[in-house]
Amino acid sequence: MSRPALEIADILRRHGAAWRAAHAGHVSLGQLKVMSAIETCRTAALGGHVEACEGCRHTRVAYNSCRNRHCPKCQGAAAREWLAAREADLLPVGYFHVVFTVPAEIADIAFTNKAAVYDLLFRAASETMLTIAADPRHLGARIGITAVLHTWGSALTHHPHVHMIVPGGGISLDGTRWVSSRPAFLLPVHVLGKLFRRLFLTGLLALHAAGRLRFFGDRAGLSDPQAFERHLAPMKAKKWVVYAKPPFGGPEAVLAYLSRYTHRVAISNRRLIGMDEDGVTFRYKDYRRDGDARHRTMTLST
Ligand SMILES: [Zn+2]
Ligand SMILES: [Zn+2]
Repeated sequence: MSRPALEIADILRRHGAAWRAAHAGHVSLGQLKVMSAIETCRTAALGGHVEACEGCRHTRVAYNSCRNRHCPKCQGAAAREWLAAREADLLPVGYFHVVFTVPAEIADIAFTNKAAVYDLLFRAASETMLTIAADPRHLGARIGITAVLHTWGSALTHHPHVHMIVPGGGISLDGTRWVSSRPAFLLPVHVLGKLFRRLFLTGLLALHAAGRLRFFGDRAGLSDPQAFERHLAPMKAKKWVVYAKPPFGGPEAVLAYLSRYTHRVAISNRRLIGMDEDGVTFRYKDYRRDGDARHRTMTLST
């Protein structure tokens, strides 16, 4: 993989000290640690290591990586590793892309209760898939799932949903053979939607009863159990939409898309165009415009 001409690390090394001085007292320890990690990643500052092949004795000397969650260099490598490992998991069968989404009212509750509600979202979605797939009236098999949580929609609004990559079939319940689904149909989405709704809402009430949910501001009243039940009532009547279709471009295309999200950093090195004394220029997409007009560049002063 070729090294981008300009990296976030170059910008931080050149302008970081001045920025820190200008914002002294307003930069958190966490932010300082991230800056330092990115600035020193794969430089002599972090030391180095020797990689050797036991077969041919070939050796390679490399600087150590910072492994910071926000480092574009490390996350780019982590994303490629994740993608390669998930691709190696793929079976030689058809695949389905499945998406579980919650109504907007639930997204609001999740926003102030992220850990509890995201965990519930994962459990309710996977239990729904495993249960309906195991039902002999449907597939009658044990399926496998790769699931990734997305918490933001493309318009950058809070929009929690779970993407799944699911093989078109599974192991028979007695464990003796492969049961294949039909090529374009995995499981009925209205059945999935109904069970998902029931499991999720039951789980949400249980979280509330266990005192695991917090409400603030104009939602503080929802701390009351009756008020919370009343608030959820309309959602029992709503249709909860589940998407399940064979993906265009196969499972590889969905995995590639998901890998960009699972290891996303604020801005990747590839989007940087240039830097001088006054500013940094980078590429961005303006989703309010159509087609090629979406691709824009912006210069921010340093
Ligand atoms: Zn790094
Ligand atoms: Zn998504």
